[in-house]
Amino acid sequence: MTRCLFCFSSYVKKPSWSQLLLIETDSDLCLRCLRQLKKLEGDRCRICSRELLVRNWSQDGCCFDCMRWQRDQRTHFLLDKNISVYQYNLFMKETLASYKYRGDAVIAEFFAPKLYDLYMKHFRGYVVIPIPLSPQRLIERGFNQSELLLTGWKNATIHPVLQRKEREKQSKKSRRLRLASFDDNPFSIKKELNNISQKLNKAILIDDIYTTGTTLRQAAYVLKQIGVEEVVSLTIAR
Ligand SMILES: [Zn+2]
Ligand SMILES: [Zn+2]
Repeated sequence: MTRCLFCFSSYVKKPSWSQLLLIETDSDLCLRCLRQLKKLEGDRCRICSRELLVRNWSQDGCCFDCMRWQRDQRTHFLLDKNISVYQYNLFMKETLASYKYRGDAVIAEFFAPKLYDLYMKHFRGYVVIPIPLSPQRLIERGFNQSELLLTGWKNATIHPVLQRKEREKQSKKSRRLRLASFDDNPFSIKKELNNISQKLNKAILIDDIYTTGTTLRQAAYVLKQIGVEEVVSLTIAR
């Protein structure tokens, strides 16, 4: 018997057909969790990696949301690309919530290697920047989930150049207000690192979820202001 890394229920670990066929090797999870963990697949938005359906597909291979970001001069090409691994479904929502608020570091052990593989495949050499928490949130939570996702990233330059100030919850805001939030950006470059841009041509932001894309774009905005040419992001779920 083994305990499932996600739900802690015990299950019998035995080779399944999918494992024999090398389709899925996440045997640290019980079958119930494994079935609910859905990888993003099929046609995806070329910018944010959202699964494209007829109703959210704009002309040039990106979703309506990204099209709106691209149309606005202030947010145009802030974030060059986001890659997410899983669908942000109810299961993922609960899993990530337990991870964030109960401090389940073990889930970082599950997700960190998966993000690392994608990093090595698509963004090798990019300077890795975890999305920071504000000092107050960090004290409340005790750890930064984005930093935990970098566990075991051996061949990566990790440079936590960003800092974050306290602000109200973003989910309460409308899209119009979210656009205004670039004037009141919670992110800034740490003072001691003000002249860092020469070494930072390509940066990759790490966070757990891509929801509206505002947080990542606010962080990207600060980096582009200091001359970083390309800013991409890697997130667990979209
Ligand atoms: Zn489970
Ligand atoms: Zn998109």
